[in-house]
Amino acid sequence: MQTKTKGLVIKEQTIGESDRLITVLTAEYGLVKAFVRKAKSIRSQNLSATSVFAYSEFTLYRSREAYVVDNATAIEIFFDLRNDLESLSLAQYFAQLTYFLSAQEQPAPEMLRLILNALHLLCKGEKSHKLIKAAVELRMMTLGGYMPDILACYRCGEYESDIMYFDVEEGCIYCKDCYRNNAVEMPLTVVKAIRYICLVDLKKIFSFNISDENMNILSDISEKYLLSRVESKLTTLDFYKRLFENYG
Ligand SMILES: [Zn+2]
Repeated sequence: MQTKTKGLVIKEQTIGESDRLITVLTAEYGLVKAFVRKAKSIRSQNLSATSVFAYSEFTLYRSREAYVVDNATAIEIFFDLRNDLESLSLAQYFAQLTYFLSAQEQPAPEMLRLILNALHLLCKGEKSHKLIKAAVELRMMTLGGYMPDILACYRCGEYESDIMYFDVEEGCIYCKDCYRNNAVEMPLTVVKAIRYICLVDLKKIFSFNISDENMNILSDISEKYLLSRVESKLTTLDFYKRLFENYG
């Protein structure tokens, strides 16, 4: 049976001597794993369309155990990611996150739009990497079913106070009066940024500005929260941090 679908290649593995197994994030089917057979005399067009970060139109053939790529045509290959190691390593991190936070046979239109938008922005180089990273992390967590409870103080229901606290472990916030051990202090601006990222229409998710100081607090909270929920080893995040943490 043949299926046509568009998707972004987020992972590739070499299998045996010549075949590759790619993982594609699609809107209709979520994650799709498909074999690319070398024996099928892959033309170079097909090859770039099945490489990591290619957004392509696929014709897939479903055999008894797996999908096989029959044909692939690239729509966008995000070539400019390769011009900047920091952008490239962030993109690899986003791809790995998508892999852990999506599932097979579960439609993922918003996850796909989010990562495509993020890759476009990384290529353009207009927004700060810290902002893109925090927005992607928090929204991917939300889409993956881990949205923090950020609407009001978890204990008393207070909507806003000048200073609030983010409880990484519980995934909730507290007002000044309800502070609990270990919750991270944040000014109201950061609370609003977190609400914005989790809830705003995806089209606008990267359209906010925040001071450098508040950006640091936001990115600290976002990364800590993510690491508390994603149990798999994020090798791409380790790599990114080793190289770029101090330069953000
Ligand atoms: Zn409270």
